Order: sequence, then C-alpha cells, then structure tokens
Amino acid sequence: MYRFALKAYGCQMNVYDGDKMKTALLARGWTEAPEDEADVVILNGCSIRDKSEQKVWSELGRFAPRWGREGRPFVAVTGCIGQNVGAAMASRFPWVRFVSGPRHIGAVPEGLDLLMGCPGEKFFHLDDDPSAFFDISEVPLTRANPWKAFVTITHGCDNFCSYCIVPYVRGRFVSRSPGAILEEVRAFVQDGAREITLLGQNVNSYGKDLSPSFPFSALLRECAVKTGADRLRFVTSHPQDFTPDIVEVMKEHQPVICPSVNLPIQSGSDRMLALMNRKYTLSQYRSTVELLRSALPDLGLTSDLIVGHPGETEEDFARSVDMLREFRFDLVHTAAYSPRKGTAAAEREDQIPPAVKMERLRIVNTLQSAIAGEINASLEGRTFPVLLDDRAPRGEGLLQGRTPSDKVVIVEGGEDLLGRTASVEITRGDNWCLTGKILFLLD
Ligand code: SF4
Repeated sequence: MYRFALKAYGCQMNVYDGDKMKTALLARGWTEAPEDEADVVILNGCSIRDKSEQKVWSELGRFAPRWGREGRPFVAVTGCIGQNVGAAMASRFPWVRFVSGPRHIGAVPEGLDLLMGCPGEKFFHLDDDPSAFFDISEVPLTRANPWKAFVTITHGCDNFCSYCIVPYVRGRFVSRSPGAILEEVRAFVQDGAREITLLGQNVNSYGKDLSPSFPFSALLRECAVKTGADRLRFVTSHPQDFTPDIVEVMKEHQPVICPSVNLPIQSGSDRMLALMNRKYTLSQYRSTVELLRSALPDLGLTSDLIVGHPGETEEDFARSVDMLREFRFDLVHTAAYSPRKGTAAAEREDQIPPAVKMERLRIVNTLQSAIAGEINASLEGRTFPVLLDDRAPRGEGLLQGRTPSDKVVIVEGGEDLLGRTASVEITRGDNWCLTGKILFLLD
C-alpha cells in the first residue's frame, strides 16, 4: 500500500484539483500519510507570482535529507508551477520524479503508480496543446471543510491580460457541461456541504463555448433551484462579462445566491486598463457596480488591484487611489506587479522600480484598511444569518462563520454548532473581521 502527502498552494482551484487527485489516489488504494512518512509528496503549486514559485523551490530544497536513492520517497510537482517550471525543478533535484500541469491532473494517479514500480524513471506529463485537458471524473469528497465545497465550472482563460500567466499554464477557456456541474453540486450537498462556491478564472464567461451556448446566469439559476444548496457563491468575475442577467438572477434567488461579488478592477486609470488588456473602462466598471448595489443592498463587494504595472505613472496611480475612495470596497486583494516570463507586460522596458512599487502598495493598503474598518464599524448593531463553518484560529471556544456578504464573523460557541446557521448580532467591526454574538439558531 503506497502512501502520499499532498500540499496545495495558491488559489481555490488548486485546492480543488488537489482534492480531486487525493480522491482518485484513495480510490486506487493509496493512503494519505504525514509528509515525513509518505512515499510521494505531491506539491500542487502556484505560479501566479514569483513569490508563489519560491515557496515550492524552498520545499524542494528541504526534501534533500529524505531522498531515498532507490527511488522513493520522491516529489511530484503538479499544478500551474508544474507546467511553468516543473521541468527545471526536475533537472535540478533528482527527487522530483513526476511533473504535470493543471490540465493533466488525470495523469497523476496512474503516473505515480507507474513510478512506484520503476525506481530509475521520471515521468513528465506536459504538452503544448493549450486546449488538451485530462481531468479526473471523481467528485472530490475529501475536502478539508465538511460545510463548504468548491466546484470548478470553467478551466483556463482566453483573456490574456498583459501581466497574467494563467492562459499560458492553464490553457484555453473550456466550460464543463451543466449536467456534470449540477451532479457535482448535488453530490456535495448530499455529503453535507451547506455552501457551494462555483470556481473559474472568469466564471461570467461560462457556457459561451458550449453548443448550444448556456449562459452563466442560467447555470446559477439551475444550481439555485435544482441542487438543494443552502448557499451559493461564485468567483472570480471579469467586469467585461458581468452582464445584467447575472444581477437579475442573483436578485431573484436571494438568499440562496449570496450577495457577494469579487470584481477585480486592477487599476483606476483607463490608460492602464487598456495597457493591461482588460477590455473595460472605469465608467463601464462603475455602471456594473451601480447595477449590483441597487439590486442587492447588502452586497459585499471585493476587488483586486495591481500597483506598479509597467508604464504606471504617478497620475495613473492617483486614479487608482481615487477609485478606492469612490467604490469603497469591503476588501481589496492588492499586489505589487510581479513580472511573469512570457507575458506581454514582462517584455516592456518601462518597468517600475521596486521601491516605487512598494511605496504605492503601502499607500493603497493603508487607505483600503481604513475604508474596510469604517464599513465594518458601520455594521455594529446589525444582525445577519451566519453559517458557522470553522473553529476560529485565535482562541478556545470561538467559532468563525460568514455573513451572506462573505464577511468573517467571530462568535463564542461550542463545536456542536459547526455547520449550523445562526442569527448573529455584530458587536464590533474591525479592519479585517467582525465580532458578534449568537442570538438564536436558524436551522
Ligand atoms: S482574466 Fe486576465 S487576470 Fe484573470 S485569469 Fe484571465 S488573463 Fe489572468
């Protein structure tokens, strides 16, 4: 009986792919083990930023004392990092014996089985066809949180934003069939999941490639009506594809479809949005936000922002600062631009010096933290239905949950309340989370 350990880094799609690989390995008779007892350590890594890749490089360096020269234990590098730099990792470290990309997770279980019987071999499952896809059909029921599940609805991306490596490592945009998605959502609901998040690099484009086409709004409606899910969320959205029919379905199916949207803006300057190949203007973005906020009064709106993209002037950066003040997002995932080899922005000569990028990052983080604190403080005294989905990381006897708008709330409570929805009064709003007290249980 072979043993594996799997570590997933980066986005929820990598976690979901990791769960699928685990499920398929367990089905083939493998068992999960602590890392220092495993025959194979699978590193399902992320390549979105240089920092993400460095985490896996340093894990590989630390593996040296464990390397068994007879061929095991060994490391399998999978995910976006496998596609991007996995081959380089395998030539540098003899203990990397398996490499595959995110479009080939279906090759992992059989590949690892083969390698266990061939100690001298290495196995690379990479190819240059960006539309090839080799999936795992099992529903991943090994998820970390029993109350929440993630369902990938699209793979890859065709948008080619100037700074982003995703289209190169995850390949062309492909929608899964509505039937397979509904079946998976139902399986999770039957397995006890209360909240389902539909995942994709650009979920709003869902179904454009299907024949006949099947819009994202129709998929959302089907999931709300036909699966029994208590709560549905989706991530990530692209502003160019967030059409009014999606807002309409969200409004129609409250409270099942949660009023929370992540709508990455990336810059407040139209000049930068064009350089980034984002295909919308600030004014178009504003119209979508107005539509969402008028249809869903308790909307939780989060965004993503990059500072220091090549060519970003002080004036462009000032537009981003103004934009944060205007939209007052609940949360913004900010990042200093990090060049990714092979992307359009990495080739530009007008790169911004690291010190300037860091200073811009400091300014937007300070501003956004203050805005989030003000928004959260304004919620004190209000009551929300909160799904209690985990132990709080800080302290005994504390649970955490999420409001429909996706804000984290910490409450006092015993573990018997996990998986229940409670009516919670907010007693304190800080920059990063809310504190509340349970008034009564709702289910
Ligand atoms: S939409 Fe742009 S940023 Fe998002 S995955 Fe696609 S290329 Fe990357």
